[in-house]
This record gives sequence, C-alpha cells and structure tokens, in this order.
Amino acid sequence: MSATLPPVTAPDLPETKFGARAVLALRRMQDAREALRCCNLCAHRCGVDRLAGVSGLCGANSHANYFTAQLEVADELELVPTFAIALNGCDLRCKFCITGDMSWHSRAGHPLDTPALANAARQAMARGARSIMVLGGEPTIHVPALLELASALPDSARLVLKTNGHCTPDARVLLDGIFDDWVVDLKFGNDACAGELARIQNYLAAVHGNLLWAAVHSRLIIRHLLLPGHVECCWIPIARWIAGHLPGVKVSLRDSYWPAWHARRSSPLNRLVSPQESAQAKQIAADYELNLIL
Ligand code: SF4
Repeated sequence: MSATLPPVTAPDLPETKFGARAVLALRRMQDAREALRCCNLCAHRCGVDRLAGVSGLCGANSHANYFTAQLEVADELELVPTFAIALNGCDLRCKFCITGDMSWHSRAGHPLDTPALANAARQAMARGARSIMVLGGEPTIHVPALLELASALPDSARLVLKTNGHCTPDARVLLDGIFDDWVVDLKFGNDACAGELARIQNYLAAVHGNLLWAAVHSRLIIRHLLLPGHVECCWIPIARWIAGHLPGVKVSLRDSYWPAWHARRSSPLNRLVSPQESAQAKQIAADYELNLIL
C-alpha cells in the first residue's frame, strides 16, 4: 500500500518572500518524496518503498528525526560558529561512530519541526553564526527533509552539508545548488577497511564519484579523521588520490579520534592516534602538497 503524499506548496512563489534557493528547494520537494518510493538515495540502493513504511539498511522511513540542533565550534574555522542540525539515521555502520546511538537508530530523536529549527537557525545567525550545517547520522538519506529545511532559510545563510559521501547521483541531483558547501568525510582509503569497519561494499567508487561532483557543484572540504593503525592503509591512499584528482582542494586532517561506540572492543581502534602517527600523517600531507586547513 502506498502512502498519500501531502500537497507541496505552490512553486511559483514571489522571490520577494522566498529566496531563489527556497524556490528551488520547494520545486524539488515532490520529486524528493517520490524518490522514497523506490529508495536509491545511497549507494546501498535498497530499492524499498519508504513511503509505505518499508525500511532499507539505514532503517529510515519517510520522516526525518533530529537529535541535536545547537551552536557548535568544533568544525573547520571558516564555518564556525555553526548552527548544526543533526538528523538521525545513517547508511554506514562505523564501529567508531561518536553518535552511534542516534546515528544507528533512524527513528530515535525528535520529529523534524522545520519552522522551529529555521527560527532557531535565524536567531543563531543574528548572534553571529557563520553557517548552518546539516549533518547526521547521514543527512543525504533524508533528502526531502533537507529540501524542506533549505526552503525555510534565507539565501543569506551559508548552508553546509556534512556527509559521508556515500549518496548516489539520484540524491545529489536533488541537492544540486542547495548547499553552498559540502564537507565530505573521506573515512577509508580502501574497500577492505570500509567493509571491516563500516560494513560497506564498493566504498571508494561511490565516494570518489561524489567528491569529483561536489568539487564542481559546491565549495568542497574533504575531511579525514585519522584512525589509529590506519595511516598506511587509509591515509596514504587518500592523500595520493586527492593529490592526483583534486589538487588544491581544502583538506581537513583530524587527529582527534577517540574510541567511541563499538571501537572500545577492537584493536587497534581502542586507543587514541599516537603523536608519531599524527606527525607521520602531516608529513605525508606535506609530501603530497595537500592544502591542509584547520
Ligand atoms: S537511504 Fe540507502 S540504506 Fe536507506 S533505504 Fe535508501 S538506499 Fe537503503
């Protein structure tokens, strides 16, 4: 049985009231909801009917929940303070997830209240927030919610998508032109580590394709969280790929890993990144002439 779609606000709204981005988001909302009928928003390509209440690997249905909406200062300097809205649910299963409870449970958290969140975001901007960031979990499994949020925000807001980069072209075509910045977590440098640590297959092909796309369609920051014991297998191939395919792109290399969630149970994830690993990773970045940012 299929669910009845709620009506979408008329797309031909005067731009004096709604900005160009809001109009674009509203125009795409119906297509985004229809995409949930046979969900291929991420590279798992489950093909389930989320509007009928069927869930794929992410566990999400047709509605997005959020677990935090607050000012944050731990992201890249050019983006903070940012008003960060974190949506429940994710298509990856990273052992070391720092928000595992919320990211692995799509239906936990609070129902999305777009007017209230948009109002809070506007107040944060008035108090000096440099950007509004939507993250997760993984936000691209909730494309209709992303468009709904964007439709309620002024064009003057610097809108940032923080993503694991595992979405499909189906998702990104709906998001094209909506977010000013994509911050993509490039987590693994090879498919074996992605499979072992995040239960994901064919990781690199999906993420590399999205990085190349995002570099053209938005401002792109590639973020990599160094994992203990994964400098050789993950960071070196990542650095090499960036140098070869996206030279000059902003790279945010982070060594602030701590063993959260299921990482406490498995070596070498159950420790911090050592000072030696951190220094080695920075030297590799220098050798490949990466454009590191803070
Ligand atoms: S977002 Fe990905 S994991 Fe979730 S139902 Fe769609 S294809 Fe499956």
